[in-house]
Amino acid sequence: MDGDAREQLTQITTPSAGAGPTRGLILVIEDERHIADLIRLYLAREGFGVHVAADGAAGLAAARSLSPVAILLDVRLPGLDGTEVCRTLRADGNWTPVVFVTARDDEIDRILGLEMGADDYVTKPFSPRELVARVRAVLRRADGPPRAGHVLSVGAVTLDAGRRRVTAGGRPAELTTTEFDLLAALMRRPGLVHTRERLLSEVWGYEAAAGTRTVDVHVAQVRAKLGAASPIRTVRGVGYTADA
Ligand code: CA
Repeated sequence: MDGDAREQLTQITTPSAGAGPTRGLILVIEDERHIADLIRLYLAREGFGVHVAADGAAGLAAARSLSPVAILLDVRLPGLDGTEVCRTLRADGNWTPVVFVTARDDEIDRILGLEMGADDYVTKPFSPRELVARVRAVLRRADGPPRAGHVLSVGAVTLDAGRRRVTAGGRPAELTTTEFDLLAALMRRPGLVHTRERLLSEVWGYEAAAGTRTVDVHVAQVRAKLGAASPIRTVRGVGYTADA
């Protein structure tokens, strides 16, 4: 890529004048120019500011310096790839919501893998509506109004909804935004069996067509992080419940 193209790729797009205050800056880390342009267009139209970085290293630097409200992260990037970018951010203690963009179904398990801390993903080709819905959903989950004093306890797990903190057997557990919301949905009504479709709708904010495997993968992550204290029980053929 020549210098001019890179310059254009990394400039910040802000909503058109008169569009009112921005909903926040979204960092788009994507090396394919036409996809980056498309994403920029969709998000700017929704009132988001957009910063595009064309490779992993530039993306990581922008994530650290610009404090975006969310990151759209392509999996396949030159140099540092998307999974490495996400892992590095999480290792730094940066929990900005990350939505992965992938061209391949077989990458989904890797993306949602145990230590990655991805909040969601979209597969190429995606529709503008789908992309914007995913971004809004992760922002809604990350920015949910804090409910001070709202502390849930099931068995040895305590979840503080206001501070967004979880302890398992007295030890703090580091959950991603999505993992936290999934656990909260289950712990809010202990003993009630939640179907995967219901969890998708309640936690991810979209309909069951998105695929229930996402729920299973995230439940596995929460269980791994809570260890023996995990209150989540599988109800075969139906879904999940939080049991004391
Ligand atoms: Ca790519």
